[in-house]
Amino acid sequence: AEAREAYVARNPASLAAHVEAAASLPGGNTRTVLFHGPFPLLMARGKGCRLWDADGHGYVDLLGEYTAGLYGHSHPVIRAALDRALDRGWNMGGHGAMEARLARLVCARFPSVELVRFTNSGTEANLMAIATAVAATGRRKVMVFDGAYHGGVLYFGGGGSTVNVPHDWVVAPYNDAAGAAALIEEHAEDLACVLVEPMLGSGGCIPAEPTFLQALRDAADRAGAVLVFDEVMTSRMSAGGQQARLGIAPDMTTLGKYIGGGMSFGAFGGKRALMELYDPRRPDALPHAGTFNNNVLTMHAGVAGLEEVFTAEAADRLFNRGEALRARLDAAAAERGAPVRWTGLGSLMAPHFVRGPVRRPADVADDDPRLRELLFLDMLGRGFYLAKRGMVALSLEVGAAERDGFAAAFADWLDARGRLL
Ligand code: PLP
Repeated sequence: AEAREAYVARNPASLAAHVEAAASLPGGNTRTVLFHGPFPLLMARGKGCRLWDADGHGYVDLLGEYTAGLYGHSHPVIRAALDRALDRGWNMGGHGAMEARLARLVCARFPSVELVRFTNSGTEANLMAIATAVAATGRRKVMVFDGAYHGGVLYFGGGGSTVNVPHDWVVAPYNDAAGAAALIEEHAEDLACVLVEPMLGSGGCIPAEPTFLQALRDAADRAGAVLVFDEVMTSRMSAGGQQARLGIAPDMTTLGKYIGGGMSFGAFGGKRALMELYDPRRPDALPHAGTFNNNVLTMHAGVAGLEEVFTAEAADRLFNRGEALRARLDAAAAERGAPVRWTGLGSLMAPHFVRGPVRRPADVADDDPRLRELLFLDMLGRGFYLAKRGMVALSLEVGAAERDGFAAAFADWLDARGRLL
């Protein structure tokens, strides 16, 4: 209550904006994930790794737009690409040079992606991957995992699925190789695809164990089902995503977030035989339209980001920075005997208010949401902007000084709030 009161007192302009927005947006909101009590901040400006809100408070941005903000704010290379695009016009109702170039870059980075198609979001990419699998196999069932998030309409966490897309879902246990393989076998006759995140992102940055993903690979092959990796979040783990780090190739991959340079983006791709179903030269081609699939701003920004900024070396550096930061945060809790565990991979990490270990969503079921909110609000007060659930997604712009500052602030927070933990 005290942290909420301090928040309300600090943010009068954000409160006024929230009240005004609520007149025409439900709860003042058009992205549920951004809402938190008592009201969310109104962000006014961003530069590099910093954000400023409507009341003039500055923050180190550790949320990184839920991983889409990999390049930080107003990166000069991305900005120059957008300027070039704007100079030449947009909404041309035709193909542009940049879409094939972005497709070539994606296929080169992800060897399992032989052909690719673009969408406007990761949600759409997953819906299209499922549609592809259903069409290719003539089967109806879709296997997903507890704790999974595949988009705003494809959420399987929080103790029950909240899905508003009609599909014949089978929800399997995450990181349970034998259990999931048995379910795949049980449903083999009607299973179109197995859709899995190589790390539960929204579900708390819980990485898939390599043996689990390999078991899915083998069981999907036996069942003749399409294995889809949702790498919308994990694609940043290396130039070729988490699949390259593990050496496990799915049949299809879905992408999104930073690959469009921070503009609206999604992609689905994979084996040639599957993706050729969309070849419009075929009389029986599957439909996949979308006014903005090749939108000029995304295509230009995406190409510039991959070609000039997020190189393979940059990806590895970012991964290592994240691993080092997570180890420091976890060590700060361990040294104090505090019941907090940070899980994640590379530049993505999330805290859990449990003693651990954390391998599956069930391991964090007792996590107290009030402590999560306290960490979030207290960190705002200290000048660090996290996801409301505590997730950190480092952008390329978050420097050593900011990472040191956050590690120190977290250790200090553990000392200040220790009696509540
Ligand atoms: N899949 C995963 C793993 C995600 O984390 C997200 C978004 O957070 C999505 C899909 C949906 O992407 P979008 O928000 O672009 O629709």
